[in-house]
Amino acid sequence: MEPTPKDSPEGLDLVRKEIDEVDRELLRLLARRFDAVRQVATTKRNEDAKAILDSARELDVQAHWVQDAEALGLSAPFARRILKEVLNHSRRIQEPLISGASEQVVHHLKVGYQGVPGCYSSLASAHLMATRTSATVDLGGYPTFPDVVDALQNREIDYAFLPVENSIGGSILDVNLPCKTSLVFKLNHHEGALAKALAILADSGTNLTRIESRPQPDTPWEYLFFVDVEGHKDSPNLSAALRQLRSCCNHLRILGSYPFRTKKQEQHLDVPTPAALPPVQPSCRIESVPETPKAAPKRTTFKIGNVTLGEGTFVMMSGPCAVESREQILESAAMVKAAGATILRGGAFKPRTSPYAFQGLGLEGLRYLQEAGRTYGMPVTTEVMAIEDILAVAAHADILQVGARNMHNFSLLKELGRLDKPILLKRGMSATVKELLLAAEYILAGGNQQVILCERGIRTFETATRSTLDVSAVPVIKRSTNLPVIVDPSHAAGIRELVAPLALAAAAAGADGLIVEAHPHPEQALCDKEQALTGEDLKQLMADLRPIVAGQGRIWS
Ligand code: PEP
Ligand code: MN
Repeated sequence: MEPTPKDSPEGLDLVRKEIDEVDRELLRLLARRFDAVRQVATTKRNEDAKAILDSARELDVQAHWVQDAEALGLSAPFARRILKEVLNHSRRIQEPLISGASEQVVHHLKVGYQGVPGCYSSLASAHLMATRTSATVDLGGYPTFPDVVDALQNREIDYAFLPVENSIGGSILDVNLPCKTSLVFKLNHHEGALAKALAILADSGTNLTRIESRPQPDTPWEYLFFVDVEGHKDSPNLSAALRQLRSCCNHLRILGSYPFRTKKQEQHLDVPTPAALPPVQPSCRIESVPETPKAAPKRTTFKIGNVTLGEGTFVMMSGPCAVESREQILESAAMVKAAGATILRGGAFKPRTSPYAFQGLGLEGLRYLQEAGRTYGMPVTTEVMAIEDILAVAAHADILQVGARNMHNFSLLKELGRLDKPILLKRGMSATVKELLLAAEYILAGGNQQVILCERGIRTFETATRSTLDVSAVPVIKRSTNLPVIVDPSHAAGIRELVAPLALAAAAAGADGLIVEAHPHPEQALCDKEQALTGEDLKQLMADLRPIVAGQGRIWS
């Protein structure tokens, strides 16, 4: 009988079966190896607790392993990597068996973190411990960072788990509170490589506070450097230096920026200490807004095209509720630009309360909006409603808006956390400020630090306005986060004549900007026509805002 050719469908099936059998065999062999490792542990225990790590024996095993691997045509670095995992796991198996014999039981470890079960720190601690020890782990949350540290000092817990970055506070740019950044990078083993890398930091005026190097067993001649520098990773100097550094390294990982304090600074600075700023895991810090007013942290500042949002500026975003046609959005852009707005708004995907109302032009609307923004030199903001639309919206817009109805759409927020674009997060109609901050946390924790919070009115028993503008939310939010806060007076008021007074109140309360609906022909608007300002209304509003903004010493951007 003819043998089945390997490239026929039957042949492929056979090869796959062979691969499956080999995989099963690998697992059987691993299980056998770990059984033997257990026996070694028992012997070590009987021999009165010899060290788990027998370096001479491991080196011997490694040498043979690599020799055998090469003889079989396998690459030595690959073989070393596999063996490293196997040896690490073997040590984890031996640890409780041996220490159990010497009465130092490490079957059970207590680990503390800041937060409540299920928060990021608790998940991260559980994950980390599962990969580091075979002991059973008892995880417990503490209300504050100092509580965790105290528990460790009092030996209530064996390990304390603390994050190094504070994300709800946003990027701490240009802050009074001194900041440090930790990095890991790899360099090739050639003359001057380290000097070149360090010169980049030195030239940017960055102070190095720690440097350690480690050779890489798997990749000979490559070194891993752990470096701490003073300054925040997003500060102009350091971020430029890190970009340059990245280009001359094999690999650069920024572990994070975090406040660092000395006793002296703690006494003299009236800025939020790390414990007073809401941390990575939201549960405890955001639970309550600080009782005693603190000096407000400096606003996180970021650029959107030619517009600067944050510390010391005031921004007007305006445009129609929805993009209705190419002509309509071009006309709207011209109108709001002439009135002094610098960011163009317009919905392409509309979250309408009624499914029979105009739903937006979708992708076509995004294209018109982008064209209008480019034509008039304005960054554009538009709503994204669904995960599957994120990429299309991000490709056309400069700011992605999450509408009030989606503030609790955590899957959407998590995906937006993976983006490198500003997100305008609107407060849900029935959401508390704390819930808004926790929603923001979903985006920040994903790595996207460019979050703009928006107060747009909440549902109360009052029916005279569409929603009730919570003006107090502006200073309240500003006390607990340094993210920019803007106000949407249009959806709060729902009535054209009420938009301006609410806008003025918002500016007076310290909002970093406004998002206002305006339409060249409000009576023809397909969406929210009752609240749309005309071009003239918008001009008048800008004129009325000027003395307030100037009086606060802010500049328009
Ligand atoms: C909007 O800004 O177009 C909008 C729908 O607002 P909100 O999500 O605040 O209702
Ligand atoms: Mn609207």
